[in-house]
Parts: sequence; C-alpha cells; structure tokens
Amino acid sequence: MKNRTVVVTGGSSGIGLATVRAALDEGAKVALCARGANRLHDVAGQLAAEYGAERVLAEAFSVLDADATTTFAAKVADTFGGCDALITNAGQGRVSTFADTSDTDWRDELDLKFFSQINPIRAFQGLLLQSGAGSITAVNSLLAYQPEPHMVCTSAARAGVQNLLKSLASELAPDIRVNSIVLGLVDSQQWQRRFDAREDQSQTRDAWYADLARRKAIPLGRLGRAEEAARALLFLASPAASYVTGAQLEISGGVSRFI
Ligand code: NDP
Repeated sequence: MKNRTVVVTGGSSGIGLATVRAALDEGAKVALCARGANRLHDVAGQLAAEYGAERVLAEAFSVLDADATTTFAAKVADTFGGCDALITNAGQGRVSTFADTSDTDWRDELDLKFFSQINPIRAFQGLLLQSGAGSITAVNSLLAYQPEPHMVCTSAARAGVQNLLKSLASELAPDIRVNSIVLGLVDSQQWQRRFDAREDQSQTRDAWYADLARRKAIPLGRLGRAEEAARALLFLASPAASYVTGAQLEISGGVSRFI
C-alpha cells in the first residue's frame, strides 16, 4: 500500500486502529475518523509521532452524519490528493433478543449498519473512481450468515449489508472493487467492555477470554487479534487482490458451521 491513501472509518480503536497501523507500516497515507474526539486525537498524535504528521489525517464525526462524511472526503482529497482504499469499519453490535428489541432499537440498528456503509461509500465514490484502482472493503460479521437469536437485529442488518455489498460490487465494477471480511470474535474494545461488565468480577481477563472461546466452540481455541483482521482487510483493499470483487473473507478461527 506504499504511497496509497487509505481511509479507515472507526480508526481510533480495535480493528480500525490495527488497520490504520498496518497501512502506515506498509507506507500508506491514512485518514481515520471516530466520534470520540479525545481518544481520536490522542491516537492521531501518537501515530503522527511514530509515522510522521504528513501521513496521518484524523477527523472526529459520526459516519451517520452524511454531510460530515462528505466534508471529510473533501479534506482527504485536499490533504492527500485522492483516495485509493476505503475501509468501512465504524460501528458496534447490539445484544438483544426479538422480545427485547423495540421499534426504535430496530430503526437505530438498521440505520447504523446500512448508513455506516452508505454514507462513506457515497462520499468517497468519486475519489475511488479517480484512483484507477479503488477499493471498498467492509467489516462485517459472521452473524450475516449465521444469525444469533441474542443479537437478532444486528444479525438481520448484517445480512442486508452483505446483500448491498454484492450489488455494489456489480454496479461499481470494473472501476472499484467491493469486498468484505466477516468476523467471528475478535478481541477489541467491544469485548473489553463486556469483560469489564462480567458477572464474576474475580475472573481474570485470560480466564474470561478462554471461557468465552470454549463456550463459542472456536476451533482455533481463542479470539482473533485485531491485527489478524487488519491483515485480511489490507489484502482485500490492496492491488494484491486485483481480481477479487463481491467476495467475503471469513476471519473467525473456524467457528462457522456452513460450507
Ligand atoms: P471498537 O469498539 O474497538 O472500535 C469501534 C471503532 O468505531 C471506534 O474507533 C469507534 O470510536 C468507532 N465508531 C463507532 N461508531 C462510529 C460512528 N457512528 N462513526 C464513526 N466512528 C464510529 O470495536 P471493534 O474493533 O470490535 O469493531 C470494529 C467493527 O467490527 C465494528 O463495525 C464492529 O461491529 C465489527 N465487528 C466486530 C467484532 C468483534 O468481535 N470485535 C465481530 C463482528 C463485527 P467512537 O466510539 O469514538 O466513535
């Protein structure tokens, strides 16, 4: 990804931050966003110190704000001259059963899952077209294919997003490739929050994570690391995957039960 411009939504933590770092390690220029300005600016300061301020652009806003996302794209164009790879990663899952999910929850979740894709894709489409080798790579979940009743609206929304991406892969071809990774369980702030809220506060982090991997019957016996998801994202985003579009790569430690 040397000298390419990579945009990562939700880049201040977890998988997004690991992807930002991996792209910078490969010599890319990187633009990242997140809602929380304090954490984002701490992260951006650290990255600028490590990789050079001229290779890092960070803006605090929600990708659910279409105007702010368009303004971000214009800033990326001004700063770096274009965009070669968009990685749509921002978001989080919602734990709730059908009985627990109100109409407002459904609308919020559908809004988050769809517009965290739609807004950045609309905003960056022109720049990706100009790149000549543009790519969109979405972060999605295995829940799209293997729904869980305790995450009912997230699962349904994620299936819809995979469907949307498949259409986009056709509509944007041959100029822009569109792919996704589908995740099982990857260690990140999301899981840290669930660990912090664990029932048995005496349980250590290692024991809690090992127990989670056992309960979820993950064949590789552990959660994924953010860097492992990042490597897959960068592969799909890069010219190394130049004949791959409309595809999904599963990063799950083998936990899926479909073929
Ligand atoms: P983290 O909570 O560690 O990171 C999420 C990042 O997204 C943060 O930088 C967060 O910053 C940002 N973000 C969240 N909402 C928005 C928004 N509306 N606009 C802009 N930025 C936003 O979680 P993960 O690294 O685990 O999550 C990355 C993606 O992977 C998410 O879409 C998640 O749903 C998906 N995923 C993760 C799985 C896992 O096991 N980790 C499994 C399946 C899918 P801030 O809060 O400041 O906005």
